[in-house]
Amino acid sequence: MIAKFRSLSLSAQIFAGLLSGLIFGLIITGIEKVAPGTASIWQGYLIPSFDVIKTLFINALKMVVAPLVLVSLICGTCSLSDPKKLGSLGGKSIALYLMTTATAITLALVVANIVDPGLGIEKQDIPFDPKQAPELKEVIANLVTDNPFKSLAQGQMLQIIIFAILFGLAISRSGEPGKKVASFFQNLNEVILKLVTIIMHIAPYGVFCIMTAVIYESGFEDIKKLGAYFGTVAFTLLLHGAITYPVFLTLFGRLNPLILLTKMRPAMLFAFSTASSAATLPVTMELARKRLGVGKSTSSFTLPLGATINMDGTAIMQGVATVFIAQMYGVDLSITQYLTVILMATLASIGTAGVPSVGLVMLTLVLTQVNLPSEAIGMLLGIDRILDMMRTAVNITGDATVATIVSKSEGDLNEDMFNDPAAGRDFETSDVK
Ligand code: ASP
Repeated sequence: MIAKFRSLSLSAQIFAGLLSGLIFGLIITGIEKVAPGTASIWQGYLIPSFDVIKTLFINALKMVVAPLVLVSLICGTCSLSDPKKLGSLGGKSIALYLMTTATAITLALVVANIVDPGLGIEKQDIPFDPKQAPELKEVIANLVTDNPFKSLAQGQMLQIIIFAILFGLAISRSGEPGKKVASFFQNLNEVILKLVTIIMHIAPYGVFCIMTAVIYESGFEDIKKLGAYFGTVAFTLLLHGAITYPVFLTLFGRLNPLILLTKMRPAMLFAFSTASSAATLPVTMELARKRLGVGKSTSSFTLPLGATINMDGTAIMQGVATVFIAQMYGVDLSITQYLTVILMATLASIGTAGVPSVGLVMLTLVLTQVNLPSEAIGMLLGIDRILDMMRTAVNITGDATVATIVSKSEGDLNEDMFNDPAAGRDFETSDVK
């Protein structure tokens, strides 16, 4: 039976883990309703042991993120023969990331104004400490690290990216010694990628435990109460994933978006269960390379950058939440304030780290700019976990879409691989075993 399960594709295995976790979570919640005495079993033994497996799984993913970004970006940069290429790669990636995020937030504001999720909702005082968001000038000043080892230890992605680019450029300009260092990093890169495929072994079980705990611990009562807000965010996320990305891919890349959406499914499931773009990055990179045919330089630059600065799903939540809170407090936002929201949510999404719940913290940046009380965020806390899972899946789909478009325009996309439904499928099955 286990052998049969293992022969399934990676997405099927993860999906099975997700679905069975969901069902199991519902079953134990149901049993607890009928027999409240069982709560001590779930809360005392089951959920804590599942939490251990969940932490093992997410730590294993996070363990490879910093080395993967560092090493693959060094390889990507030193293999660029022309340094000008780096400028064009960076320029296109950043421009597209900003465009997709601005579209996401605009879409969110439009949908929220049609649905009016905050009308008739009563304010509640749920404590939330609004002072946690870093200041923008701090984010900019910290782009360059004073100690790369500290950045690696703390997983400071933007600092690692900038250090890796400079280091890669130095290697490419160092002649013979540079070639030796480059070959070391290329070999190291292969080894790290192998490590990623090994870690995927435990993914279905990790996902099962996460889903069980999330379903058991979720406040479904809160979802009912804030149904309009929840539904508006979920609907806009779906709209963005199913319309904006396909339009961008067709328009700018002349590629079939269905292929991208199908091939990226395992990464979406990873993102959904871990609620972390950063933890999903190893999977996003593997799939982009081995299934979509995105070239090495582009995937190693554009994807880590995207996992750090491109958060369309997060911007959508922030847009809907702003309208929701304004309506709840009876505040009419002016056109200038809407434009401020678009700008601030785009900047906030750049500053949002790819880990669970940070989007909600960064929402304070947006709210304070339009004079709305950040304490109101407390009301959204209870239902944010599930929305976080959904928006993270959108965030990484955006990263893959932009990376594919940039790769095509930079001429390093393997289009035969992209169009071949079977390409890289072995990575999803036999390679994982
Ligand atoms: N969890 C999101 C991510 O990792 C960030 C957020 O919206 O909180 O992409």
